[in-house]
Amino acid sequence: MKKIQWIAAAFSLVLGTQSFAQAPYALPKLNYDYKAIEPHIDAQTMEIHYSKHHQAYVDNLNKALTDPKLAALTLEQLLLNAGRRSDVIRNNAGGHYNHSLFWEILTPTPDTESKPSDALMNSIELSFKNMDSLKKLMNQAASSRFGSGWAWLVLTPDKQLIVTSTPNQDNPIMDVSKDRGIPIIGIDVWEHAYYLKYQNKRGDYLGAVWKALNWNVISKKYYEALQNPLLKVIEKSSWKELNDFHMVMAQTFHPVEENNFKPLRERSGELVARAVDLKNSKVPASFNTPEITKAIDELVKGATELDKINTKKVKDGVLKVKIEKLHDKFHEIQGLCSH
Ligand code: MN
Repeated sequence: MKKIQWIAAAFSLVLGTQSFAQAPYALPKLNYDYKAIEPHIDAQTMEIHYSKHHQAYVDNLNKALTDPKLAALTLEQLLLNAGRRSDVIRNNAGGHYNHSLFWEILTPTPDTESKPSDALMNSIELSFKNMDSLKKLMNQAASSRFGSGWAWLVLTPDKQLIVTSTPNQDNPIMDVSKDRGIPIIGIDVWEHAYYLKYQNKRGDYLGAVWKALNWNVISKKYYEALQNPLLKVIEKSSWKELNDFHMVMAQTFHPVEENNFKPLRERSGELVARAVDLKNSKVPASFNTPEITKAIDELVKGATELDKINTKKVKDGVLKVKIEKLHDKFHEIQGLCSH
């Protein structure tokens, strides 16, 4: 990637995360009043949902971010590795992100003006045939979600639109989700989103929310997601075999830096196995380059050599040089994936 493109990408990453920023988090401003979404969503539900439920996610997230290292991360970075965070951070970071999106994509009624952009409509037709089948799929995803959760329209790293759902306050940015990407539409199917007006009739609520969607905002979300560098970060973080290799590398290389050779002595065979898995894995589309293929081949070769000399009981110093080289090679791959 040329330098100017890199600067543009970094700049748009900053802009892309601007609305959610970093700790301490705050409720985003609503662009309409509580009554504005009636009759689809009643004023009391809007008020409690926004000023009590969402506020609680924000407050609990801020309370949970006592570690300055975590507080320095953006909301998206917290979500990306949600599986490695505490449940409190996972649930409340998700709750804050999801609700911020939900408020944004609702429109005051009557909305006679908003409609999907041509680009979004083309993409919907490509993935679902037409708007009706998208609506049907979203409603199915929302109705079949047992208990609390969300239904999503998501842009995947290979730039396809898909429909999925997640439990609780999880979302498709998170490493714990089976379908990953950037959410374009999120529909809250927690009972707190509809119970006052619709009681147990989730289907009626879903039909009503569909009428309250702001397609101008959703089209803008789609356009922004297409160029959001987060898409590539998600793609890389979904590459399981890369992460698996990284894990063994971290757990063997870092002890060596502290002169503890035991993990590497015991696990050099695993380094080979994970490198071979990586070589045999499906390389995500945008990383499928000759440079990366070549670097992975060299990783397998390097790991195999290291394992071989390890079984011959070479001195620590010799092993250290090898693992340092292998570590550099791995970071070369990591680096190539970030361009
Ligand atoms: Mn909610």
